[in-house]
Amino acid sequence: MNRIFSDLPTTVFEVMSGLARDTGAINLGQGFPDDPGPEDVRETAARAVLTGYNQYPPMMGLPELRQAIAKHYKHWHNVDYDPQSEVMVTSGATEALAGALFALIEPGDEVVLFEPMYDAYLPLVLRAGGIPKFVTLKPPAFGLDRQSLENAFSDKTKAVVFNNPLNPTATVFSDADLSLLAEFCIKHQAYAISDEVWEHIVFDGHQHKPLATIPGMRDLTIKIGSAGKIFNLTGWKVGLVCASEKVMKVIGKAHQFLTFTTAPNLQVAVAYGLGKDDSYFENLRSNLARSRDKLTDGLLQCGFKVLPSQGTYFLNVDIAPLGETDDVEFCMRMVKEYGVAAIPVSAFYANGSVRNIVRFCFAKNDATLDAALERLAKVS
Ligand code: PMP
Ligand code: GLN
Repeated sequence: MNRIFSDLPTTVFEVMSGLARDTGAINLGQGFPDDPGPEDVRETAARAVLTGYNQYPPMMGLPELRQAIAKHYKHWHNVDYDPQSEVMVTSGATEALAGALFALIEPGDEVVLFEPMYDAYLPLVLRAGGIPKFVTLKPPAFGLDRQSLENAFSDKTKAVVFNNPLNPTATVFSDADLSLLAEFCIKHQAYAISDEVWEHIVFDGHQHKPLATIPGMRDLTIKIGSAGKIFNLTGWKVGLVCASEKVMKVIGKAHQFLTFTTAPNLQVAVAYGLGKDDSYFENLRSNLARSRDKLTDGLLQCGFKVLPSQGTYFLNVDIAPLGETDDVEFCMRMVKEYGVAAIPVSAFYANGSVRNIVRFCFAKNDATLDAALERLAKVS
């Protein structure tokens, strides 16, 4: 009998959320908000379910959603995408990542990855037959440097997987970083799979700059987004891809055999939501920034060393000053003994080399944060 073998790891998000469910711990691990998401967007979805929109939609996505995506990025970033040929709807950013990698990577192609990296990237690159080349980003800025890129890029580089704003560090890359990355992508004609799911969630005056807007990058960039983050509706798993027509043709082919389509009723609601006026997005950011500040202050009072968060739903703490040397062991203890789940950031490194950082999700209501902080006061 054939052996069943899988080298795919169990994702840290399922491990920690599973433990939180089993133990009744407060879950500040996996990134999902307490906020229920905008009511009008949810109502639009409910109406769409009741009035139709329950059969297979077009493979590339509902035309009204593809148009809304193109309009949204024209409005926010002045980027032009043709909704017919350059925009596709996927089942979450995760499917978009898988589709892009399965479409573009042939066995033996090199793929540049930046550590710490979102946990789906490496397993997908490896399953696509890609050879990962790591660039390790250094705290506190987690920016790019020329020498590391020189070391990682070669004439075999087919693609990079880039994430900005960056999960888990909660940092935003500078314009200089984007230009440096662009220089290398252009020189090597490497595709940039640019995971920008946190594009709307940036704080303190930081602006999101899409990689595709850097001169020369328009047609090399595969931009990935997620309605889950834009509307605090993470379970909806409505993602999007914007890319040149030539690249979209091959990613669309991968999409046919991954999911083919995405729930049409949710697509109708996302199309509606993307047209919301700017104040919705400003409120999204300011509400999250307030929660970030609340958790930051509370953790500082508990004695944690809190690292700055410029965007995303997350902030990190350095546990080394507490005399802790193993983030996984620390998170296991925290969930079992203190009843709070968080994410050990070593899960975002290929060889788990960094062991002193723990990630908390602050996208929670005040009562959840207060309850968690009360428990965390006993840890340090
Ligand atoms: N990429 C990054 C960087 C993420 O943080 C996430 C989820 N938070 C995803 C991709 C997955 O997005 P989705 O739920 O739309 O698949
Ligand atoms: N992206 C979310 C996070 O970073 C989790 C998504 C998932 O569970 N795969 O927490």
